[in-house]
Amino acid sequence: MSELLRHFVGGEFTASAKEFPKISPVTGEPLCQVAEAGESDVDDAVRAAREALRGPWGRTTELERAAVLRRIADEAERRFDDLVAAEVADTGKPVGQARTLDVPRAAANFRAFADIVSAAPGESFLTGTAGGGRALNYAVRKPVGVVAVIVPWNLPLLLLTWKVAPALACGNAVVVKPSEETPSSATLLAEIVRDAGLPPGVFNVVHGYGPGSAGEHLVRHPGVDAITFTGESATGATIGREAAAGVKAVSFELGGKNAGLVFADADLDAAVAGTVRSAFTNGGQVCLCTERVYVQRPVFEEFTERLAAHARDVAFGWPSDPGLTTMPLISRAHRDKVLGHYDLARAEGAQVHAGGDVPEFGDARDGGAYVRPTVLTGLGPDARTNREEIFGPVCHVAPFDDEDDAYALANDSDYGLAAAVWTRDVGRAHRAGSALDVGLVWVNTWFLRDLRSPFGGTKASGIGREGGVHSLDFYSETTNVCVDLGGKGTP
Ligand code: NDP
Repeated sequence: MSELLRHFVGGEFTASAKEFPKISPVTGEPLCQVAEAGESDVDDAVRAAREALRGPWGRTTELERAAVLRRIADEAERRFDDLVAAEVADTGKPVGQARTLDVPRAAANFRAFADIVSAAPGESFLTGTAGGGRALNYAVRKPVGVVAVIVPWNLPLLLLTWKVAPALACGNAVVVKPSEETPSSATLLAEIVRDAGLPPGVFNVVHGYGPGSAGEHLVRHPGVDAITFTGESATGATIGREAAAGVKAVSFELGGKNAGLVFADADLDAAVAGTVRSAFTNGGQVCLCTERVYVQRPVFEEFTERLAAHARDVAFGWPSDPGLTTMPLISRAHRDKVLGHYDLARAEGAQVHAGGDVPEFGDARDGGAYVRPTVLTGLGPDARTNREEIFGPVCHVAPFDDEDDAYALANDSDYGLAAAVWTRDVGRAHRAGSALDVGLVWVNTWFLRDLRSPFGGTKASGIGREGGVHSLDFYSETTNVCVDLGGKGTP
């Protein structure tokens, strides 16, 4: 990794007058310097993107673009170890997770959208004309134009490629703003797309912060046609106001306060193991993580004790340790926020069954941003602990009596991203899918994704759906062409 991570504009790596340090979440030590984009850097990137759309890229067919996407996937696989090292260094996540989830998914995103755009269904209709003839209507998909891609730090490469792949598949040019906490994999992706033969200017990266920095300059830029954003709901609201002023299309994947529902008939071993994963994976820093667990009363105590035992027994290590499942939070600032929630939970009267504090190592990790996985009980549905997204390795467990009770508790949230239901009752599994007011319902599993299926949230968890043809709908404009075929009743 170079000492200074630079922007990627018009096919060239560029620096800025301002820089900021990237800090290791494992030790608190600086890892590298990162260029911070000002207004003129963002302007250069948007101009380069617009220029690229006027060039050969703007005339490519879907199959030609699919071929480019497959070359990018090949190149990402060739740079596999570099991408793993970048993700691990930036986030402190276990190397095993980066090798099995984050980096493979990046290549999979490009391959999936190569396939999806190649097989995208067209629309055509024959219409009767006043003179008794026929007219043919058909819809043509076109790129939206320049798409701003703004992504968070929790799954940096996975979430970035989830948006960049369909945007490129549809023929757009993109300007990417990664989180200032995780600049490395986006910089490597710039090398990857360049080496895969993507024309200069089609993919641009500007580093920096959100407010008053690269992110804000980008969403305000009049040359940006659409904004795709993943991050906090409050940030989405801010970006939405800017987008409304410029009448720009938005796709928002926002926060969650997701429920897990454990019915008494569930396979309890699977429900405990699944909830350990859904609450604590990636340090609980996944929008899909479970922070509210509702357990049917007959198994409430056993479930809670088993979950807490897992949380207490969890092994901390170094990111390079094989089999490790824990990791630090992304930064000391985020740790302060999570620890503030642990304190708030106690002040609200919660019982702490596991965690609630910071581990001590006696080595360099004491400079990092670690917290212990935490299991809470005893709070009502109106407690802030049960309403606000914490985004750490923590969940609150509460009992319920019957199915209607469970759905009412789960739906009593400002958010509506995901839910995980644990039951052996097939009918209930399907009822839950309809009853839960969220974008994704998992039954007896969690985080399993088919990239062709719709992804997104209701309420404060987002606007729109991405995935499969839903992504194509967002990243394309559609023009309907109506041709009078003449004739009298002869198609
Ligand atoms: P933030 O909303 O703080 O930041 C997300 C991105 O937006 C970052 O790149 C950030 O830059 C940038 N940004 C912040 N303010 C502005 C602004 N005013 N204008 C333009 N850009 C801005 O989210 P986090 O990074 O803290 O990520 C965690 C959040 O993401 C959680 O709420 C989580 O639930 C959500 N999330 C949602 C997912 C979903 O699919 N629904 C998936 C993953 C996460 P910078 O950080 O550099 O300041």
